[in-house]
Amino acid sequence: MPAYICKTCGVQHAGSEQPPAHCIICEDERQYTGWGGQQWTTLAQMREAGHQNRFQQAATGLTGIDTRPRFAIGQRALLVQTPRGNFLWDCISYIDEETVRQVRDLGGLHGISISHPHFYGVMVEWSHAFGNAPIYIPEADREWVVRPDPAFQWYSGAKEVLPGLTLVQCGGHFEGSAVLHWAEGPDGEGALLTGDTIAVAQDRRFVTFMRSYPNYIPLAEEAVRGIVEAVRPHRFRRIYGGWWGNDVTEDALGAIERSAERYVRWISAK
Ligand SMILES: [Zn+2]
Ligand SMILES: [Zn+2]
Repeated sequence: MPAYICKTCGVQHAGSEQPPAHCIICEDERQYTGWGGQQWTTLAQMREAGHQNRFQQAATGLTGIDTRPRFAIGQRALLVQTPRGNFLWDCISYIDEETVRQVRDLGGLHGISISHPHFYGVMVEWSHAFGNAPIYIPEADREWVVRPDPAFQWYSGAKEVLPGLTLVQCGGHFEGSAVLHWAEGPDGEGALLTGDTIAVAQDRRFVTFMRSYPNYIPLAEEAVRGIVEAVRPHRFRRIYGGWWGNDVTEDALGAIERSAERYVRWISAK
């Protein structure tokens, strides 16, 4: 039974004879149904269409992986390499034998987590390809997991998943929106991997926080302040966002704090 992938959000659903009637992720107010209506594909169809994954180093010990031609939302996944195992932060909608070979060459994969449901991609396929690697998802976002699997491990708050790698649930974009704190990387100065939880702005001295990016729905002051408080205890110099070059390269906590103050000033302005 094929497991269909939504062509707009790129999230794979549980196996079914016929394509599902709905994609609950796209029907939610934070996303949208594609302008041509709800459409589905499968990994086999994507392979036939010529999709491939591209690997590119983002920093020492950090490899970005995205799909070419671009598919659905088009985010990158980030493979964090540590002496005690590799971890995949965020996922994409494609995997093939060449991808598995390249990840094995980089040291394999020992766990997966995703910033929020828009970036779930084909996370269960990635887990299965690497010995059913655990997939850590906040309990608060369980309702958005549309392909159940024994690999899921539910957490709340913060969770260290490998030595020096800690998931931090921040809320905001989704109740379970999270970031990954990488204490030692790169060059020992610490980094946050943030997806849409803390989105790097085009002016990369700033970030932003939204309920919906495509539909331009802001967050309330309390949610913005909650995100800042969740990350403040952690030491980090850089942010690696969801797209190539979408990075804050210095004083990342300062960027988050200044951005939050500016944001609250504008949503509170009369
Ligand atoms: Zn969808
Ligand atoms: Zn999102």
